[in-house]
Amino acid sequence: MGAKVRYYCRVKALTIAVDGYASCGKSTLAKDLASALGYQYIDSGAMYRAVTWYLLQHRLEAEEGENLQRALSDIAIDFVTQSGETVLLLNGKEPGLALRSKEVNRMVSPVSALHSVRIAMVERQRAFATRAGLTMDGRDIGTYVFPEAELKIFVQSRPEIRAARRLAELRKAGELQWTLEEVLANLRERDTMDSNRDFAPLRRADDAVDLDNSDLNREEQLAWALELALARGAVRP
Ligand code: C5P
Repeated sequence: MGAKVRYYCRVKALTIAVDGYASCGKSTLAKDLASALGYQYIDSGAMYRAVTWYLLQHRLEAEEGENLQRALSDIAIDFVTQSGETVLLLNGKEPGLALRSKEVNRMVSPVSALHSVRIAMVERQRAFATRAGLTMDGRDIGTYVFPEAELKIFVQSRPEIRAARRLAELRKAGELQWTLEEVLANLRERDTMDSNRDFAPLRRADDAVDLDNSDLNREEQLAWALELALARGAVRP
């Protein structure tokens, strides 16, 4: 009788960080990867947008202080799956497209630069890490939130492509008054603010893999990223 051969394969659910500038397709990639791998997907930008929206709703200034502390302790953020889509709930309700409004786009970078806002969000983001595998997109996921992530992707695309994508998203949200130039200016302003803030700025992690998706379609970028994830041992949990 021949000896029995046993195959051991090291398989694991990964934490995948997808970072990059505004509107470069990070969310689409992170979402598609999560659904292909059976992982959880978290949109960290939506969390900062939710805090911004809450402050606007309650007419609170974007500044450190007691009001901000109270607001942060009053804010509960959850993600639920509805018809296959991950949806953010703020205190049990779905703000939906309000998170993409002009006011939120204008205010989100200053709000995200506040130290207490970041501390509160990062703590919640880390709590989403499970043994089941996670993809999270943002600005500081590979550098600060999950420096040990097994796969980090840094996404870029040409500014005019990013602006056209954001304009389409805004139109979908019913924001019809934006011009392409205004959108481009807002993206640049946010990128500059996000890259220059003191705490956990937008930065490419040294061990990130670069992706320029300017000339790739959705399927092509997913295929590229899936190959990387599988090479690093990703499997369905
Ligand atoms: O990804 P999205 O464009 O929706 O993010 C909105 C804003 O939230 C960014 O411009 C940035 O100011 C902030 N953000 C952040 N850190 C993250 C994700 C988003 O500061 N990890």
